[in-house]
Amino acid sequence: MEIQLPRGTRDILPDEVASWHFLEEKFRSICENYRYSEIRTPIFEHTELFERGVGDSTDIVTKEMYTFADKKGRSLTLRPEGTASVVRAFVEHKMFGDVNQPVKLYYNGPMFRYERPQGGRQRQFTQMGLEAIGSDDPSIDAEVISLAMNFFRSIGLKNISLIINSLGDKESRLKHREALIAHFEPRIDEFCSDCQARLYKNPLRILDCKTDHAHPLVASAPSILDFLNEESKDYFAKVKSFLDAIGINYTVDPTLVRGLDYYNHTTFEIMSDEEGFGAKTTLCGGGRYHGLVQEFDGPDTPGIGFGMGVERVLLALDKAKIEIPDANPLVCYVIAAQPEVEEKIVQLVNRLRMHGISAEKDYQKRKLKGQLKDADRKKAKYTVIIGEDELRTGEYTLKDMATGKQFLVTEDELITTLEKAEGDK
Ligand code: ATP
Ligand code: MG
Repeated sequence: MEIQLPRGTRDILPDEVASWHFLEEKFRSICENYRYSEIRTPIFEHTELFERGVGDSTDIVTKEMYTFADKKGRSLTLRPEGTASVVRAFVEHKMFGDVNQPVKLYYNGPMFRYERPQGGRQRQFTQMGLEAIGSDDPSIDAEVISLAMNFFRSIGLKNISLIINSLGDKESRLKHREALIAHFEPRIDEFCSDCQARLYKNPLRILDCKTDHAHPLVASAPSILDFLNEESKDYFAKVKSFLDAIGINYTVDPTLVRGLDYYNHTTFEIMSDEEGFGAKTTLCGGGRYHGLVQEFDGPDTPGIGFGMGVERVLLALDKAKIEIPDANPLVCYVIAAQPEVEEKIVQLVNRLRMHGISAEKDYQKRKLKGQLKDADRKKAKYTVIIGEDELRTGEYTLKDMATGKQFLVTEDELITTLEKAEGDK
């Protein structure tokens, strides 16, 4: 066939989808446990939302957006990340007036960035993430981080590390900014054109440049931690002490700066140290931001959140050789001993399904042996064989496929046994 997938996209095939359900289910139950509610926002938004919300000096906005004009000439963009949309919805629906501050929201869905596709980097990828908007209490920072760590623990990923940093408040950042400009200015011509453009716009971002990360001036750049004022130091100390209190290990890395223009105070990344990734890979990144709600014409409101790349988490699970259990194994395959009993098979399979039991039959006119093979292939827990004799006596042979044991049962007993097996899954 000539038409194939667009570059940087993937089909998720039926044999992979159980892993997706597994992650989605875990994330959802953990978020709800921490009292976050789901929000679903549109896949496309006005381009301006991301220009303002992500920042027009970021790689995302300058290079990576899927932007198009609709039939009326409006500029729209496929969302490259989740925070801007969630904050827009927060303002649009006046959630700031809600007495339940902070408003705690989570999301799960596709994001789009025009990047060079490679392992763990796609053009359409999936993020699960969350935002807590309306509180600047440092315990929320610890909570958001612990939720992410708890999620990784619950899916069985052990080789992960947490890196945190503080960007301080506005005052601290301004002082640091001046120091960065003074540091890079004399030799800025040795840097890439992106960094040259960043020097006065957002010099912090030079530290995050993928082209110039090995330049010696990056390593020797002034550390933000030396510029934190008392309030910011105190804030960071509280976040760290809460993390200590709940037993979460972390490393402080003063060079950890993150994409958004609005980040302040806590930033963090969770990396996978799984072998086979080559270098460490970031699974999850997030932090506290201030000014974003105001940017969208809401009241002055702080927020914090993270985004997690689902495809990368799946890669990490794969590298760690973690088997994902089949959440819905087949309980019973109903086998026809003769073609004449087909109608009874249709009826019985229907009855099992009405009782919530997962049941399957043959649709390919297979002989008895072929049906048994098919049941095996589909990993049925039980098979039941029905023929004319069984219809006459009303007693069926139920076979436990794991032990090979067989039982004679009535149809009602069959249902009771299989209901129990379904419940035990
Ligand atoms: P990177 O430095 O890898 O480009 P980023 O800083 O652009 O990451 P964020 O915007 O913080 O990433 O997104 C959060 C998470 O989303 C990342 O840690 C990663 O797991 C995932 N992610 C980002 N871009 C992609 C992509 N193109 N394909 C797959 N996953 C991605
Ligand atoms: Mg990126």
